[in-house]
Amino acid sequence: HLDARGAAAWIRHAAELVTADAGRLTRLDAAIGDGDHGHNLDRGFTAAVAALPDEAELAGTRPGKVLIAAGRAIVSKTGGASGPLYGTALRRAGKAFGDASEADAAAVGEALKAALDGIQELGQANEGDKTMIDALAPAAAAYRDALASGAGLAACARAAADAAEAGADATVPMQARKGRASYLGPRSTGHLDPGAASTALVLRALADVTG
Ligand code: ADP
Ligand code: MG
Ligand code: MG
Repeated sequence: HLDARGAAAWIRHAAELVTADAGRLTRLDAAIGDGDHGHNLDRGFTAAVAALPDEAELAGTRPGKVLIAAGRAIVSKTGGASGPLYGTALRRAGKAFGDASEADAAAVGEALKAALDGIQELGQANEGDKTMIDALAPAAAAYRDALASGAGLAACARAAADAAEAGADATVPMQARKGRASYLGPRSTGHLDPGAASTALVLRALADVTG
């Protein structure tokens, strides 16, 4: 189960992984975008960590509230296309948890789906467009399949993280049809999408803190 403390641990660990990989994310973005993705997300997740309730407050709050606060901080502090997309994803995930004091494995699966829907409503990208959707959509599907086969939260989250990494890798041959990379047309092929790479990090962080 993911309680408020667990949700905060997820955001903190996601921030650690993003900070550690910011250079790589920025290099990926330099190849097909404007070279700021690592910097954008590092700023955003650092702001999200700063917006987390302190230890005493965490004992009395809900995981939904934690994710909504993190999402708001990301929207307000992250430049670029990815800020509103990540912020929307976290806010939608938080709303999906509602007022529950703990999210079970099924609730986390619903939250991933809500995050995916939120990103798609805002960004209008589909699978195959070489965006973060190519990591998140297979992750949400793998999570759902693992849940249906009786897996618990940790195993579902691992399945999602593995699928997100495979999905990110699969963006390499794709031609970008959304975002800045789409301006390159066919020259956007042959590179990993930076947003798909960062989405895989955030889902790996969830697997790490639940496992
Ligand atoms: P910017 O392109 O504004 O500099 P970032 O570099 O932070 O923003 O983020 C780029 C990433 O955002 C891309 O790699 C892609 O994964 C994601 N992205 C861009 N546009 C969309 C969209 N419409 N839907 C989903 N993801 C998108
Ligand atoms: Mg960029
Ligand atoms: Mg930019």
